[in-house]
Order: sequence, then C-alpha cells, then structure tokens
Amino acid sequence: MRPLPRSLEPLPDETLTGFVLRLAHRLGTSPGEIAARTGLPSRLPLGFLHHLDDEHLTGFARAAQLTPAEVSGMLLAPLGERYGPLNPALTPRRTPARMIYDNPWVLTRSTRYCPHCLAGDGTAIQNLHGGAWRRLWRLPVTFLCLRHQCLLQHQCLGCTTPAQFAPAANAIARLTDDTLRPWQCRSNARPIPLQQRETACAADLIQIDLLPAAPDAATMTVLFEVQRQLIDLLAANGPETAMSAGAPVPVPHYFADLRATVAMIFRSWPAARDYASTPCLAAVLDAECASRIAQAEPLLNTPGKKKTSKPYTAPPTECLATGAALDMAANLLNTHDPVDARHRLAPLVQRLREADLALSTWLRRPSWISVSLRQAVMDLPRNRRAVA
Ligand SMILES: [Zn+2]
Ligand SMILES: [Zn+2]
Repeated sequence: MRPLPRSLEPLPDETLTGFVLRLAHRLGTSPGEIAARTGLPSRLPLGFLHHLDDEHLTGFARAAQLTPAEVSGMLLAPLGERYGPLNPALTPRRTPARMIYDNPWVLTRSTRYCPHCLAGDGTAIQNLHGGAWRRLWRLPVTFLCLRHQCLLQHQCLGCTTPAQFAPAANAIARLTDDTLRPWQCRSNARPIPLQQRETACAADLIQIDLLPAAPDAATMTVLFEVQRQLIDLLAANGPETAMSAGAPVPVPHYFADLRATVAMIFRSWPAARDYASTPCLAAVLDAECASRIAQAEPLLNTPGKKKTSKPYTAPPTECLATGAALDMAANLLNTHDPVDARHRLAPLVQRLREADLALSTWLRRPSWISVSLRQAVMDLPRNRRAVA
C-alpha cells in the first residue's frame, strides 16, 4: 500500500467514516477512491466502522500516514471496554463482527450530530474540512453536546433522512460523489425521472437557523448533568465503577443496566413516571410510549414469530426523548441501598412480568445486566415475596 501524497491528523474522537470524508475533501476526490487507495473495499462495508482486521488496519494506517493506534481510535469496537452494549460479555454474539447487527444501542446506519461541532472549531484546518463526525455520536447514550450545551440532531433538516444514513451495507452514501463537503447531507434527493442521475440533497448540516427550540431551562440543566455523567463514564480515564441498583458495578455493566432499565420503563409505562425529573421530561415520555404502543400493535396480528417486544427495547430516535429515558433510568438505578433499589424497581418488574413474560425473562438474564441489578429485579421465592 503506497502512502497517499497528503493526509490529515485525526481529530479527537473522530470516526473512520468522518476521517475518510475529510480526507477525500482535502485531496479533491471521492470517499470511495480514498477507501480503495487505503486498501479498504471501495464500497466501504458498514462493519468497517466498528472493527478492522489487522491487514486492513495496518494497510490503512500506512497509506494514510497514521499509527495503527490512531486508526483503532477511530473504530467503535474499543468503546466496548466501557460501553456494555458493545461489550461481548454483556451483549453476547456468535462472532465479533455480528456485534453491530440487530443492536439498536449502537448507531451504524446513521448518526447524531452537533451542527456547531461539525462546523469546526475555527482553526484553519477545520475551517477548510469541518469538524469531526464523532464516535460518541454513534452511541445512543449521547444526546447532547456538552461544549455547545444543545441537544444533538439526528436527521438532515432539509430532507429528514437520518444523518449519514447508510443505504445498502455501505458506511457512506454516494461513495463516488466528489462534489460534497464533509458536512453536507449525502442522501439522494427526491425520486427523479428515470435515466437521470440522482442528485444529492446536499443540505448543509451546519446550518443552525432551522434548529428546533430547546426545552425549558430546568429540563436542559437536568439533561446536561445526566449527559456529563455518562460522558465521564465513557472516557478512557474515567471512573472504574458506577452506582447501580444498590452497589457499585463496573462501568460497562452500568451501561448494560441503563439499556435494560430503559426497556423496562417503556414496557411498564407509566409505572416509573414519578421518576421523571421535570414535567417536560414526563410529557416527552408519555408521547414516546404512546408511539411505541402504536408500533407494537400491528405486530400482534402478524403471522409467524412475534416480535412485539422489539418496539420497547430500542432507545428513542429523538435526542430529547433519549435524554428523558436515560435520566429516568439513572434516577431509578441511583441508590446505595439494595432494599431501596428493589423497592424502586418492583412496580416496573411486576407490570413487565404481567405484560410480557418473555421480555421480562430476557431483560433480566445474567448475561445482560449487572449482578446488583439482577438482585434488585429477580423473582423472590414465593414465601419471601410478602416481606420484600
Ligand atoms: Zn457541539
Ligand atoms: Zn438531506
């Protein structure tokens, strides 16, 4: 693999796809061409966002004049050391490559973004090629930009396609298009007559005049604090443990517990409604749960394997609803006392067991949640239920 004539310094927390987009822009070529010239398949398979095998990793590093460590720092797989939904011990998969499939707790076919961050930080290089498309935006537990104190966006405000939506199994849309800048929407515009080349939406995702209004100040203060704590836990040098359901648990287990608790909140709604920190967050979750019930309804009458639990186990698409759900889950888990944890979670577990026994068993299995959450939500022998 021959080195490219010029390359770029990776930005902190930049994704591989974001780096390829900036590098293509710098060299005046297409992302597909960059992939091919760095030894990656030119269709850039989705899985390469998550993990590269040694051959691809060293080839890419050499061609882009980076160290192998810099390249693995652009992948999602290393985040699994702290993030349970990407950790094989807490998210069992037959092969490592399957980690990103059927895993709604990592965004692979789209991303969230902060328009201000994407516009760049004012340095010369970012003025030219934009800021980083960040890795943390691919984790649904990231819903707010701490730097700019705003909720993230999840779609193009021009065409409403999810941001960086990946059609087919490619990590980047319009791979051969060399006319778009890294912060422009690459989704195809509305259907056009046959024979004509499809054009890109090309909306600038850094435009801020169309952004929806922020929620009230008290709600933003709550969400900022929740997000700050979660980002601290995801940092490589962050704390080793977090309090979950009556005891400190390793950080990846805490994120697994949040995932399970969010599903319990949705499936047992409104059992946990009192744990909303503000009226706005409670109202947002009312609407979110109504939409999940509406999604699950038609599945009840479909033939074959029922997937009626599915609408309840994914994080919300909208960043405000995500923040609301995570705040509530964190409030439920945040106690030092195992008895208190059991008391808080009991109404959810009871309602969940009544509504969906299969999901209740699935969410509480040992390979899915921490030991302390398991103790807080496990079924007691019949004679002890009365005193618990
Ligand atoms: Zn930002
Ligand atoms: Zn668009």
